[in-house]
Amino acid sequence: MQGILRIESASKSFQAPEGGVIRALDNVSLTVAHNEFLTLLGPSGCGKTTLLRAVSGFEDLDGGEIYIDGQPVSDQPAHKRPVNTVFQRYALFPHLSVQRNVAYSLEVRGVAKAEIRQRVGSMLELVGLAGMGARKIGQLSGGQQQRVALARSLVARPKILLLDEPLSALDKNLRHKMQQELKTLQHELGISFIFVTHDQEEALVMSDRIAVLNGGTIQQLDAPEELYRRPGNEFVARFIGESNLLDATVVSVEGESCDVALADGTVIRDCPVNGLKRGDPAKVLIRPESLVESVGQSSPDERTGHEISGTVSESFFAGTDYNLVLACKGLPPVRASLRAGPGTSHHTIGEQTSLFVPHDAVHLIPGKGAPA
Ligand code: ATP
Repeated sequence: MQGILRIESASKSFQAPEGGVIRALDNVSLTVAHNEFLTLLGPSGCGKTTLLRAVSGFEDLDGGEIYIDGQPVSDQPAHKRPVNTVFQRYALFPHLSVQRNVAYSLEVRGVAKAEIRQRVGSMLELVGLAGMGARKIGQLSGGQQQRVALARSLVARPKILLLDEPLSALDKNLRHKMQQELKTLQHELGISFIFVTHDQEEALVMSDRIAVLNGGTIQQLDAPEELYRRPGNEFVARFIGESNLLDATVVSVEGESCDVALADGTVIRDCPVNGLKRGDPAKVLIRPESLVESVGQSSPDERTGHEISGTVSESFFAGTDYNLVLACKGLPPVRASLRAGPGTSHHTIGEQTSLFVPHDAVHLIPGKGAPA
């Protein structure tokens, strides 16, 4: 893929004030497609902002190269690059009007007054602020300020818009609304967005693809559903969504499927093999919401799947789900989210129960991984 942005083997280290070296970016490569919404997701300190700053030109790389529209940009200063950034705290000029905030970058470039008026007007309309041009920043709500920041970044028609946790200062409802608005805006404009967040739910909802970072490296770069269903390693499995990760060993392989034995001796049959061989260690990933109640159902064999039995050690109702923790002999605690509805009931602590693991709910992650 040629893409609008190509990052090749980007590396960046910082001298830690307390001594030693921090590898903020460690050989990072990725390509962003035209009109793509790509999210950089990862825990605090994983290198998201450093990567964004390297693209925008505010941070020089130690090694590697960045190409925008096929052109290397390492020698281009920030103001010459066809990218713009929306920051977490918006960085608006509080003493200027909405109109002047949005017009600023065009004024600096010497764009003609009439053109500025026309472009600022259509930008304010696009972000739903038509008629508010004369207001001061302090006379706007948080969501409106966010829209001004967007308009200001888009008015210069960048090829790529970088967004560094732009919604984190908003309350939950407004945040959800802005997530939808941003997605719609990106679609309408046909610009590539690179969005930074440490909120996995936000990343899943908004992105075409997500790059999960940890310790300055990309752990996995995939579409949201693929990341969720088939995480490539234990870090990604734990970082995205809730997970049960059980130690297992592959006991047999046949074509594209294999049987694995859990620590308590239970054998789970016909799992997707995922490159594993007989005798290999693996982690079995089962998402809590993919477990179903066995009580009163036909036997597991008839429904091709497996049963996990144990004692309920935690149980609470969470509106749409009943959440349970099952203490099972020889296994770590198993979490389940059972959809609340006809046929599902509250389980009491201490109760013996069985949960059914449907066949397609199992994903195997190669390797032993970290202890659960
Ligand atoms: P957050 O989600 O908390 O914003 P992040 O993923 O954006 O984190 P970065 O800001 O890219 O992380 O930082 C990556 C690592 O580099 C961190 O360990 C950070 O402390 C370190 N770092 C970043 N900038 C500097 C600097 N100027 N000097 C020293 N260390 C730095």
